[in-house]
Amino acid sequence: MAQTEILKMLSPSAVNPDRLPSGGMPALTQSDVAAMLAGASRPVVLLAYAIHVTDDSSRIQLASHVYSWAAELALSEKWKITRGRPIVRNMSHLAVAETVSPGVCLSCYGNRYISNRVCTNCNGTGRKYPTHEERAIEIDVSECRYYKLWRHRYQRIYEYLQKLGYTLETIVAKNNREEEIIFANA
Ligand SMILES: [Zn+2]
Repeated sequence: MAQTEILKMLSPSAVNPDRLPSGGMPALTQSDVAAMLAGASRPVVLLAYAIHVTDDSSRIQLASHVYSWAAELALSEKWKITRGRPIVRNMSHLAVAETVSPGVCLSCYGNRYISNRVCTNCNGTGRKYPTHEERAIEIDVSECRYYKLWRHRYQRIYEYLQKLGYTLETIVAKNNREEEIIFANA
């Protein structure tokens, strides 16, 4: 089974032990999910849930973890940030949004409508890869400053999330392979 198929099953209804399987496919239990994510660090588990479970709490916890990571990077590299400007927090949230929902319109956040009007940014499709200008607005820096400075920093936060994603895929693939070996020997 493809990794994405497995991860699609990591939904709240699938992990609810009270839910009876409706078809021939047995519902996943909490322990099945735990087995698939065995050995994964907390941020990797949060990413798995943020991508595959439609529940905001994993995404919020992931954004908060990424923010701590980015804040440490900012401290160690002595980024100059005006007090009270949440640039690092904004970058962390944007990087999580772009990782968890790639290509989602940043004006309507994929909802396709803004106050009952069709979103003009994505023409009501809910999908549009952000331009550098839009990223600058989200992060709350000028476009010029974004090009000169913040773009590279944003890229590093985004790459940190991409690395978590590769780790997640590797772990699920490995755990899935081990399960097949166990079944083959049973
Ligand atoms: Zn839109």
